[in-house]
Amino acid sequence: MTSKPAKPLNLFDCATSQKVIGQEKFLDAFKTILNHGGYAQGPETRELDQKLAAYSGTKFSATCGSGTDALTLALMAWGVKQGDAVFVSSFTFVASAEAPVLLGATPIFVDSDPETYNMNPKDLEKAIEEVKKEGKLNLKAVVAVDIFGSPCDYDAIIEIAHKNGMKVLSDSCQSYGSVYKGKKAGSIADMSATSFYPTKPLACYGDGGAVFTNSEEENELVKSCRVHGMSPEDHYDNVRLGMTGRMNSFQAAVLLQKLTVFDQELKDRYRVASRYDNELDSYFRKQRILDNCSSAYALYTINCDDRDELMAFLKENGIPCGAYYPRPVHTQTAYAKWNNRSLPVCEKLSKTVLSIPMTPYLDNEDLDYVISKMNEFAQMKKSKAA
Ligand SMILES: *Cc1c(COP(=O)(O)O)cnc(C)c1O
Repeated sequence: MTSKPAKPLNLFDCATSQKVIGQEKFLDAFKTILNHGGYAQGPETRELDQKLAAYSGTKFSATCGSGTDALTLALMAWGVKQGDAVFVSSFTFVASAEAPVLLGATPIFVDSDPETYNMNPKDLEKAIEEVKKEGKLNLKAVVAVDIFGSPCDYDAIIEIAHKNGMKVLSDSCQSYGSVYKGKKAGSIADMSATSFYPTKPLACYGDGGAVFTNSEEENELVKSCRVHGMSPEDHYDNVRLGMTGRMNSFQAAVLLQKLTVFDQELKDRYRVASRYDNELDSYFRKQRILDNCSSAYALYTINCDDRDELMAFLKENGIPCGAYYPRPVHTQTAYAKWNNRSLPVCEKLSKTVLSIPMTPYLDNEDLDYVISKMNEFAQMKKSKAA
């Protein structure tokens, strides 16, 4: 019998890296900001832009206030507006769809692949044909979400989008650190948006985000929109509509510290994931990661038909877990008026998925316990069925 670990298990772990890095490093960096006084979009944010662009392998990074800001700023730079169709998967965190809706565009929800949980390119093609046939909306952009950190089928999605005159925005809010066929998140689609919210793979201690592009023109537009559409020449002339989208310097300072351990944390996420991949009973269907790709494992998510029962069983045994996401976006109240396509796969997924503890700081004893309890549940179910 594997016994319960002495310390409580976490679904996310926002605290341990502080000990690993050393709290005094954060305090020193905060003191520097208190002394220089550049609190909003100060020198730390510019240093972070350089480091993030280098890490992602993109020409430009523009840090901003959150992942939602990043998505909105990228779409603003493309001039997304009323009358535009923006295709987005429904099996995602609400912000992927909220950003185009805030700009007045119409979200067209696309179904998921049952194994990768990401946007199904076949259903994207179908949705595009439907919009074309209606002839009311302008085909504008695709928001491709890397759900739980696992890259989408970008080759297929980009080909379909470009063939139809659309840009692809990667919602990499959960996938910073992931790799798609040799390319790091940020550098795969036309533009990419990421989030540094505390539960994301690379996390700050509040809200933060970044927009990535290889186009100088797009980067300049994003930077202008981030400060109300300011002209780079005349700061009192706002030449377009924008928003307040700056990152605060304290969050940038946190991220500069967190970047120093990020690759090691990713390695530890792979260590945890590979134990789950190899040792969890086949009763649990695992999220499929595409060939030649690696997930950033924001979450480790399985799906099984007795999800709610499994969730109760794990919680009873002190194992934190969560159903991400229990409602696809098109079924949520504020989005009901765009609930006009059949999306059976994501509706089913929302009833069967479960995310189990995934942090770089789970040790072998923790994992022994989680795996043994999960497999105990599987055995129980299998013997009942036999
Ligand atoms: C977290 C998240 C966002 C939004 O990021 P915030 O920083 O919370 O605004 C957008 N899309 C996805 C898929 C996310 O997981």
